[in-house]
Amino acid sequence: MRVIDAHVHLYPPETGREPSAWAAARGEPHWAALGTRRRKDGKPVQGFPSVDQLLRDMDAAGVSQAVLLGWYWENHATCVEQNKFYAECIRAHPDRLIAFATAQPSAGSAAFEEVCRAVGDGLNGLGEFSPHAQHFSIDDPVWRQIMVLAAELKVPVNLHVTDPASRKYPGRVETPLEDFVRLVQEFPATRFILAHCGGGPTFAQILGAFPNVWFDTAAAPLIYEPAVFRQMLTALPASKVIYGSDYPLILYPQTETAPGFAGFLNEFKTAGASSAVLGGNVVGLIGLG
Ligand SMILES: [Zn+2]
Repeated sequence: MRVIDAHVHLYPPETGREPSAWAAARGEPHWAALGTRRRKDGKPVQGFPSVDQLLRDMDAAGVSQAVLLGWYWENHATCVEQNKFYAECIRAHPDRLIAFATAQPSAGSAAFEEVCRAVGDGLNGLGEFSPHAQHFSIDDPVWRQIMVLAAELKVPVNLHVTDPASRKYPGRVETPLEDFVRLVQEFPATRFILAHCGGGPTFAQILGAFPNVWFDTAAAPLIYEPAVFRQMLTALPASKVIYGSDYPLILYPQTETAPGFAGFLNEFKTAGASSAVLGGNVVGLIGLG
């Protein structure tokens, strides 16, 4: 079975050496709040693996390919930095890695041009975006231009969605349902992947009715009890669900001390995930053949 993890984040090697300083130098406090956080027991919420470590972790769990998602950076320069880093990663490992480009629409035409440049550089999709964390309106003209471009280029757009019922954590942003409903309606030719199960059962039920919407399962073990997760999977058409982990988040903090793919993948397989959910659906969406 070809297993593809459609929601992975990776950072340049210097990021992991001193994440807080790295973020401060770039004016990225929101990322720092989420990415450098420690749990009450002092354990970090995520790791900072190298590309080689990512590949080893994929091998250990039988993950064939990973989709590297950009972060929803607050600054244009950080978006460019990550897009360029991802282009290097996919050039070095074209058989294992796929990457999406990120952008900060508030940068104006530079953001639009960066998306064009990054796609020209081999990136295969856009996101993960979060208008709510990046502080731009979904009516922003450059954002709307990017959404039209995504349809023209036939590349999917991954959006961060927060479940309104999930517990509070530092850096959490509210992401109102109406905004996603408007986006998917106003850009019917753009294909959207709504991250984190599209914000949970209530959101997913409404948003799942749109033909241009898919859902990834990023961070599900941290957000949902296994029973709720299974229920959600059975409520959604299997053609709309895409396996994604949110690696290098540590998804089972009680038992795991480092990021990895096996825990969630095994749970997901036990819950009955089909080969379409574990890879086929995203292949179709990205047009990978
Ligand atoms: Zn993510």
